[in-house]
Amino acid sequence: AGRLADRVCVITGAASGIGRATAERFLREGARVVAADLDGERLGTLDGTVQVVGDVAREEDARRMIATAVERFGRIDVLVANAGVIPLLDIVEATAADWDRVMDVDGRGMFLTCKYAIEAMVAQDGGGAIVCTSSISGMAGQARQAVYGPAKFVASGLTKHLAVEWAARGIRVNAVAPGTIETERVAAARVEPGGPEYLEEVARAHPMGRFGDPEEVAAAILFLASDEASFVTGAILPVDGGYLAR
Ligand code: NAD
Repeated sequence: AGRLADRVCVITGAASGIGRATAERFLREGARVVAADLDGERLGTLDGTVQVVGDVAREEDARRMIATAVERFGRIDVLVANAGVIPLLDIVEATAADWDRVMDVDGRGMFLTCKYAIEAMVAQDGGGAIVCTSSISGMAGQARQAVYGPAKFVASGLTKHLAVEWAARGIRVNAVAPGTIETERVAAARVEPGGPEYLEEVARAHPMGRFGDPEEVAAAILFLASDEASFVTGAILPVDGGYLAR
């Protein structure tokens, strides 16, 4: 039983935050979950999942995350391409190394995991759903997102292009665009220089006047991954308390 009964789902960045809430929700919905993350220790606390420790930006690791699903369960039905790093930097503060790392993880890593997931979905005779974690920063401009924001535009762009490229093969590709979500990343930002002021300003920009919870993003990811979204592809669903509606 459940909205993802027996579906084989790979979730990247599953050890923490939005990815972890999604893994927990998917398990409750009957999914078989392959949970992938760089942080093996935290991943180890996610009971009921098959776990892959690796870096989405490394091609061999990304390939292995998808291959693990196929080896263990014989197929892959869903990829949640969620792993990401979120530096809050303006362009003067940001270094070329910051740019390279963020583009590697949030850009290249999403490209690689989508590539190998689609390859496997096609090999199993089509069908499947991908949900990418974009961001409000991948849809609109914000201060202190000179590196992260453009990387999230890659996520939004990949979603639309792959949706069109694979629609005829029955593979749906959608994204969520979360507003600011109460994760450890946000908690960490509260103690970074300029962080509190920045977060206060960002909170005011959310018409609902609060940040979201990881579970609220997981619910939207579940919808897009499930058969209830059977005619939805190429969509980028804001989960942002109205941020993008302004
Ligand atoms: P988080 O830091 O709580 O979780 C991210 C997870 O990804 C961590 O477990 C981390 O170990 C893992 N990870 C990082 N680099 C990796 C790599 N190279 N390979 C594999 N795993 C890696 O952060 P979160 O807020 O849950 O972020 C998840 C996604 O949501 C990200 O793509 C982020 O850009 C996006 N997002 C977050 C917010 C927010 O406000 N928190 C808003 C919009 C979008």
